[in-house]
Amino acid sequence: MMKLHHIALSTLAALLPLLPAQEQAAPPAAQLSAQAHPFHRTDLYPAWSRMTPQQALTDLRAAIAQANDRLAAISAVTPETATFENTILAWYEAGENLKQTMNYAYHLYIVLGKKDMQHMMDTLMQESTNHSAEGLHAPRIAQVLQQAGNAPWVQQLSPEKQRFVQQTLRQLRDSGLTLTPEQQVRKAQIEQEISRLGFRFSQYVKMSPQVWELIITDPAELDGMPERWMQNAAAAARHRGVATDEQPAWLINLTNSPASAVLRYCNVAETRRKCWRGTTSAGTARTLDTEPLIHRILELRHELATLLGYDNFADKEAAHRMMGTGQRALAFVDDMLAKTKPAWDAYIAAELRRYSKASGKQLTAVAPWDTAYLDHHLPPARNKFNVKTITPYLQTDNVVNGLLNMWAGILSLRFEELPTVCLNPGEPCPDGKIEVWYPGVRCFAVKDAATGTHVGSFYLDLYTRPGKRGQAWCLPLRDGNPAPDGGVGEPHLAALMANIAPPMPGKPQLLSHSELYMLHHEFGHMMHMMLGHGEIRPHCTAEVERDFVEMPSHLQESWIWEPAALATFARHYQTGEPMPAELMAQLTASRGSNPIEMHMRMLLCSKLDLEMHINYEKYKGRPIDEVASEILAPWLFPYTEQPPTELRTLTYTMAEGYAACLYTYKWCEMLAADAMSRFKKEGVLNPATGADYRRSILERGSSVPAMQQIRDFLGRDPQPDALLELYRPR
Ligand SMILES: [Zn+2]
Repeated sequence: MMKLHHIALSTLAALLPLLPAQEQAAPPAAQLSAQAHPFHRTDLYPAWSRMTPQQALTDLRAAIAQANDRLAAISAVTPETATFENTILAWYEAGENLKQTMNYAYHLYIVLGKKDMQHMMDTLMQESTNHSAEGLHAPRIAQVLQQAGNAPWVQQLSPEKQRFVQQTLRQLRDSGLTLTPEQQVRKAQIEQEISRLGFRFSQYVKMSPQVWELIITDPAELDGMPERWMQNAAAAARHRGVATDEQPAWLINLTNSPASAVLRYCNVAETRRKCWRGTTSAGTARTLDTEPLIHRILELRHELATLLGYDNFADKEAAHRMMGTGQRALAFVDDMLAKTKPAWDAYIAAELRRYSKASGKQLTAVAPWDTAYLDHHLPPARNKFNVKTITPYLQTDNVVNGLLNMWAGILSLRFEELPTVCLNPGEPCPDGKIEVWYPGVRCFAVKDAATGTHVGSFYLDLYTRPGKRGQAWCLPLRDGNPAPDGGVGEPHLAALMANIAPPMPGKPQLLSHSELYMLHHEFGHMMHMMLGHGEIRPHCTAEVERDFVEMPSHLQESWIWEPAALATFARHYQTGEPMPAELMAQLTASRGSNPIEMHMRMLLCSKLDLEMHINYEKYKGRPIDEVASEILAPWLFPYTEQPPTELRTLTYTMAEGYAACLYTYKWCEMLAADAMSRFKKEGVLNPATGADYRRSILERGSSVPAMQQIRDFLGRDPQPDALLELYRPR
């Protein structure tokens, strides 16, 4: 699902008042030069070869000392001397080099993955979080910031600065700095326990597939299984010591002799039923039952929210987002469910007809262990488009160049490639070259086409290699500064990272359709990171409301389905011919074939996630499978037996950062589909529409609420019609 695009810098900002007092005298800020501290916020392009683990620690300590100096200055501010700059903004800026050091170190750790880097990251995290509430200035700073935030002069500030004051006050409240000392202790205990239980939850889910197994001794029970599968299962049983040549047996598990094959091929319904139970057993086994963990995590989250003055945990999370409250998020999900219901009912009716035909019985419900088996015995779906047929048209360099040219046109930008070099420690950087962390990493300057203003630069590191973290992501490396006149200021710096197979001599370098999608998606994030600017630095970033972060990426990935866009970069790698119109039409038509199950699954998980967090009191202590069935009853597929609730294995919600937040996937998808409908109407390559997208959304960073941005682009409130159209039965 969602990938990590950036570390939450705001969490580092929240740590600042808790930093330790330094025993030694802090060096004056002027000495914190680029030469001495390459991890600090210095030149636009970092000197990567000088950024060693030892240097990171030196720079972190210097940054902590600097932050402490700055925090001491804030704590000395009185109501008479307070200004926006020396209180609210100064608090944000106090840790700029701390954030910068952690940011560069984290980047090097995930792109190089060397052992010493991992050790460095552990040490840095330890150093920066080791010191809890004994922070020298914390209570005084909370007082200064609160007084400043409520001072009469705030009313005289620009709307953007007033917005930042409100954001800071909310951050102050959620970080617990305004609580009593006893409450702060309790808050820390709750957070530690949630984190411990979340970790255990993930472990249980991860270990679950290893505990289930089924041993069959009568081959008649495995009628229909392919010979090769039988041999593997027999070998697994012997290996396990439960069978001999004289007394054969067959071992089925969820790893190497998979139950999924039994569900497909086995003619014996009872064997399929047992295997289905196995495939849905995660989080239910006696020793790995996640239900008690879920109850306790929900209880602790509710207590935390109440402690911070919210009605429930969903409200606490939504307060910083476009939704504002948990109820509003739930209303969105309920509305989408209601509007999807006709399509979903039609899908269910069609599925029951199919299964009735395959089984020769009139079914009103289907056994969940029969579906894969019946699917296997039905004729294949008509003319299913094989997406592999387009890969000869997706030569990597053509796609990358085409993508840049296309977006240069749409957004009125210029992408200039800069020559790069990878250096050994101590080697001087040749003039005119930009240093990179690995050979072959590219670097582009992004400029406004009309004025030539340099708005940002980004690295492009496409290929997989040992040590590099998997998947694809964008990481903002260094936020630009606003210009004093309110225009475009200092450029941004970011990295687009992917894991495409590296070029092989004599072989064409072709992308799969999913890699094409990935590139467009990440490029949406990149444009958001490159173009944002505002009056103050915290608003120049793409750190917008969390339920808006994925909007530009979802929007820009839509271009991979547009013939006009494909025509700009899809050329046959041997002949150079453009992709034939017929193939494009097939590709476009294949979009959305049978996606309603995924759509519904995401909506139902989002509903469950919100209901459990909003109505904690109503459901607390009740069996979770029963509660889930009750909440989701109107939409459940008519199986003869429902599987255990997905909540039992939903690590995103129970152990990672998506508690009460799963709805954001569908919300961002809806906003993107709606925005795309305007592009489709006016032309997907239309620079006038692109200029409006750039002006209304990409350039605004978080300087105005995201809802205002999307309204400005659409000229109205967002509507779900364009998204629903994608899931209309065809
Ligand atoms: Zn994304």
